[in-house]
Amino acid sequence: MAFRYAFRAARGGFRYAASRPALAAAATTVTGSAVAGYAWAKPSACQTSSLVDVSGLTKVAKTDDVGLLPQPTNPKYKTALVQIYVGSQPFGGSDKSASGHRYDSIPIANGMIASGMSCQLVHYVPEEHDAFIKTMEGFDAIIVRCNPGQINAAGGDQMKFDDAMRGLQKKGKQVWPSPDVSRLVHRLPASSAAALEASFGYGTCDCLALLGLVVPLDGRPPSLKCYDVVKVERRIKLIGIAAHTLELKQRMLRTLVLPKLTWSGGFATVPSEQMQKLVNAFRVALTKATAVDAPHVLYYEVGHWSCHPEFARDWAALREAERIHSREPVWIEEASLRLAARKWFQLLPTTRTVLARLGWWHDPAGDFFQRRDSYQQIRSYQLGADAAEVLHEWLCDWYRRRGLAQCGRVAKDLSRNLEEDSQLAQGLQLPPPPPNTLAVFAGHRLAWKGAKDVVDRRSAMVTGCSFWHKQKRRSQREPRPLSEACLCGQLKPSRPHLLWNCEATADCRSEVRMPQNRMEERLLAVAVPETPKPPIVLDYEGFIADIAEVLTAHLEAEGRVTVATDGSVVDNVAAFSVVIEGEAHPFSLGVAGEDQSSHRAEVEGLVAVLKALNQTACRGRVLLISDCQSALRVIQGGGSAALLATKALQLLRAAHAQLDLSLWWVPSHGKLAPSRWTPPPCGEMIGRALNAQADRSARDRASARAQGSDRQLCLRAREQAMQWEQSAQQVLNRCARRWADA
Ligand SMILES: [Zn+2]
Repeated sequence: MAFRYAFRAARGGFRYAASRPALAAAATTVTGSAVAGYAWAKPSACQTSSLVDVSGLTKVAKTDDVGLLPQPTNPKYKTALVQIYVGSQPFGGSDKSASGHRYDSIPIANGMIASGMSCQLVHYVPEEHDAFIKTMEGFDAIIVRCNPGQINAAGGDQMKFDDAMRGLQKKGKQVWPSPDVSRLVHRLPASSAAALEASFGYGTCDCLALLGLVVPLDGRPPSLKCYDVVKVERRIKLIGIAAHTLELKQRMLRTLVLPKLTWSGGFATVPSEQMQKLVNAFRVALTKATAVDAPHVLYYEVGHWSCHPEFARDWAALREAERIHSREPVWIEEASLRLAARKWFQLLPTTRTVLARLGWWHDPAGDFFQRRDSYQQIRSYQLGADAAEVLHEWLCDWYRRRGLAQCGRVAKDLSRNLEEDSQLAQGLQLPPPPPNTLAVFAGHRLAWKGAKDVVDRRSAMVTGCSFWHKQKRRSQREPRPLSEACLCGQLKPSRPHLLWNCEATADCRSEVRMPQNRMEERLLAVAVPETPKPPIVLDYEGFIADIAEVLTAHLEAEGRVTVATDGSVVDNVAAFSVVIEGEAHPFSLGVAGEDQSSHRAEVEGLVAVLKALNQTACRGRVLLISDCQSALRVIQGGGSAALLATKALQLLRAAHAQLDLSLWWVPSHGKLAPSRWTPPPCGEMIGRALNAQADRSARDRASARAQGSDRQLCLRAREQAMQWEQSAQQVLNRCARRWADA
């Protein structure tokens, strides 16, 4: 059926237009009981004279306005409450009382009067339409209290009435609710909806605009309502002028600009042309007052990618999917089965678009975001369980790659034509880096962090230190033209020349490996491998069964058992261990999946014990010890990874059902215990000894897994890249100072 949705939300209430804030604010006190403290007084001739003359309209109400407060002498605004009387219906309609007014009309009018406004009660009589609308022009605001269908039932035409109200709105009158608040929303064209339209007398449209969103029914993506990109651009520009440091600019953009863009997460965003305008405005604001030729990729890397409007949009969309996937919505009880059964990818069109744009996808159940990495392996991020840092790194890497591909000085050979002038002081002739190159700019970030003056900051951003830069600075201070000669005697030196090719600065770079491509030469950045897949984990189920067997033996023999767990990470490879009191050999295993954080390893240790406990049929006392408070919180249902916590909590509850299980925190490896700490029932010595054993075992396992792994090789390569970047930064810094002093 084409008819989708009849929106009548505002039927019982008012809608305040923003153009008259004072009036809207005053009207918010509208309520039948808001008359407390009001001085009752008889209306006088002077009071009535401030009202709009409605004597030309038929007075429908049979009795006087019984109970209506006297109108204020000097009303802040003049309002009218419009009703309709259906002669063919008892009392003029089911919403009427014996007086001929709606049963809520007098209380509403009194609320307006109590707020210092006048409020006159009138009826709309279709036969006197023109006179009625003419009279309404005398009011500042009109409250329409005509139920759907009533105007047509009284012989009138709802469309004609609504059009007249729209005319009044155009003249600056407030109409509550707006005639446009009640509409039939369905996919157009639809002949089956025509009858329904006629009976209600509403306007129709194929676009639902509510709650700050515009939702077209024709399959176009939803968008943000009232997102004024010109206003936002102005705000970004002002931030660029007002804030001087990169950090402050990014903080202001993150707090004052981005929330308005990202609040609706994966559901709606702005059209791409508006997004491009935002990206450009951000660019100008961020690079203002530093150097215009600074590569944008570095601005976001040294600052933060979360301050990139597209990145922020993508991140919000991905995280919203994760939120929906891992938490039961509060409205689930109210929702139809069809809606409640929907997955995040059916509910979030923007997240779908973002995934497609990134070249990623999701599994059919929506449990994982997936992508193919540069090693041609499929990577899977588990929503609601893996650490958000993993997803963040994926997204940063995507933006880094794109930023490098778009970086002019890397992508293009910008060397000047030597045939024109062989004396030009040029850089090296190097090839571009391979396509899809990744750099993480760790050396630049460190340089920026440790920067003490403007030369340090310029060097960190790989800007300044060229003939043109010096010329610009010189012309700002003094009109004397700058000599075109480099330190070596050639002409108009570029930054790559001074850094890598100038005889006069050769001593600055004597210790540093020469650059091998344009990215190294001009951006001082070294290509690094992306973080590879962690080593695989075999026979997890067998591992759990082994622990269960040992636990069962202890519980059967002694009726109690003490267990300690710990997690460890070596070179981005995680492992956990389980130590059982009285057992010579600890159990240890690698952590499966993308999340190789120490926190996850700690949680996995506890989860392994809970799973093993759930496999024993024994009863008894179990003491479970960990040195990680946040992991203990997760298995009790806390922490930020909601799905991981929910599953762990289920295991904990199941274990509690049959065992006397207590969880205990002990301080880690030789750390002092806080004064309020209570040692575990096994005693502090044993607790700490078990924890230390678990720690060693987890670290040994993690080291063994990391040894020779792709992750370890990646980390070493990145360390080398960072060292070269730092040395290159120093070369630039020394050359920049020498050139500035020359
Ligand atoms: Zn030179």
